[in-house]
Amino acid sequence: MKFAIVSKGDDRSNKIQATMKQYLTDFDLDYDEKNPDLVISVGGDGTFLEAFHNYVHCLESTSFIGVHTGHLGFYADWVPDEVEKLIIEIAKTPFQVVEYPLLEVIIRGHSGGREDRFLALNEATIKTPEGSVVFDVDIKGAHFETFRGDGLCISTPSGSTAYNKALGGGIIHPSLEAIQLTEMASINNRVFRTIGSPLILPKHHTCLLKPIVDRSFLITIDHFTQSYTNVKSIQCRVAKERVRFARFRPFPFWDRVRDSFVADDDDDKNK
Ligand code: NAP
Ligand code: MN
Repeated sequence: MKFAIVSKGDDRSNKIQATMKQYLTDFDLDYDEKNPDLVISVGGDGTFLEAFHNYVHCLESTSFIGVHTGHLGFYADWVPDEVEKLIIEIAKTPFQVVEYPLLEVIIRGHSGGREDRFLALNEATIKTPEGSVVFDVDIKGAHFETFRGDGLCISTPSGSTAYNKALGGGIIHPSLEAIQLTEMASINNRVFRTIGSPLILPKHHTCLLKPIVDRSFLITIDHFTQSYTNVKSIQCRVAKERVRFARFRPFPFWDRVRDSFVADDDDDKNK
């Protein structure tokens, strides 16, 4: 089996990266950054997002696992103290794989403009540095609303605990193939009206955002931000691609949510 390790770059993460690389090669696994079967992220969720995007072109043949040295580590199941145990588990391959849905974003320019396609593990957001965004929002080919406000966030189920959560979106279990649309400060009055609630769209329900007022947009895909002008439409839907996580022990999603946002076992005052 071939593996690669993406480190956050701090001393602690680099040390863990070096140890894992050494031990796993001692177990006859091949370090291969080009075509790894397993990508190990050592850091936080930001590092995991980076690892995902480094290998986004070969998701079908790649599984991901996270070792947590960062702050939150929602995607990273293993802590540094468990690295030896994890090495042995990896060396014992084959491993179980759990798949989560992704978001597909296609940004189209006006005639002759560019067309870009992205996959997001957490979310895409659309904002503008120039006042409010004004879009027509179509869902499944039909006009739904005209949105005016700071922006919109379209998230995956595993990204529903990230930016989406801060915007008042719901947490969606990743076994549900869905995307969620959340508003950022919509303008709502007698003249302008939006639904106001987060919307959860199933697979095949495409959401199309069509700018009415031409602005330069800041479009984020996970941790990347890009500036766009001349945008005709931004199309979002559940991607046909999925992300694969290597699972060496069960770690149910709701336990992960609880550990990240409610309490640790050691810190449970309600016990
Ligand atoms: P960051 O500023 O370090 O990320 C913000 C926080 O989100 C960090 O604590 C990060 O964990 C955590 N996080 C990332 N993905 C998560 C997930 N799926 N579930 C729960 N928490 C998650 O920037 P970053 O590390 O490059 O991450 C980019 C992400 O930041 C974006 O995809 C977006 O979701 C999030 N973000 C959130 C807000 C907000 O909540 N208002 C604003 C902008 C961006 P680590 O510390 O382990 O990295
Ligand atoms: Mn981070």
